[in-house]
Amino acid sequence: MRILIVEDEPSIADGLKFNFEQEGYETQVVTDGPTALALLLEGQFLFDLIVLDLMLPGMSGYEICKEIRGFSENIPVMVLSARSSSEDKAHAFDCGADQYVTKPFDLNEVLSRVRNLFKWRSPDNSDTSDAERQPVHVYQFDDVSVDCRKFQVTVKGEVFTLTTMEMQLLRYFLENQGMVLSRSRIMEDVWSQSPDITTRTIDNFVMRLRRIIEPDSSKPKYIVSVRGTGYKFVRERAVSR
Ligand code: CA
Repeated sequence: MRILIVEDEPSIADGLKFNFEQEGYETQVVTDGPTALALLLEGQFLFDLIVLDLMLPGMSGYEICKEIRGFSENIPVMVLSARSSSEDKAHAFDCGADQYVTKPFDLNEVLSRVRNLFKWRSPDNSDTSDAERQPVHVYQFDDVSVDCRKFQVTVKGEVFTLTTMEMQLLRYFLENQGMVLSRSRIMEDVWSQSPDITTRTIDNFVMRLRRIIEPDSSKPKYIVSVRGTGYKFVRERAVSR
């Protein structure tokens, strides 16, 4: 596993690098967006995760994240930032970030979040042992087909690529069909109860999934709201003959 750290504060970058390497990950540190993007586009090294600061010289982390999403939908991006407002978090998620951790951060939390992202990462370059760990990876219902390994949803022939956390949430719904899932349970199971994930974040992710899979996202029939609680994934019941 290879992690690209985009961070202009040397003490933080060094700390992350040291601790990631203790965990057995390979790392590379860059201090600005253009260098990070050049490195990613050059493709000499394949990265499995990007840890991204927001306040960087020249180009903000938001812009960098958007650029990354322009050429890679499913490389996980974890924002690590001193900005803690809900607007900043929402903006980062809108730019395609998968995780948001505020500084000062708890190192164990960061490491657990990294493991969580890797657990769900698209096994594009992986061997069969990864594939064996995920026996069900294609779900089909009505006109919708979900390929959890390719991070792709196909609706009536149109292909959509999801980000890591969008895929993780959709898969969670699919694996727990028919069950009422409270927002706090979703937060715990999908985001490992990150203190930076609010119920509004979950609602925003659900909104995005609905726009993709629902024939009419204003009247959802798959990801239905359960008032005062959360959500439930339902497939249309087959009409009995
Ligand atoms: Ca900074």
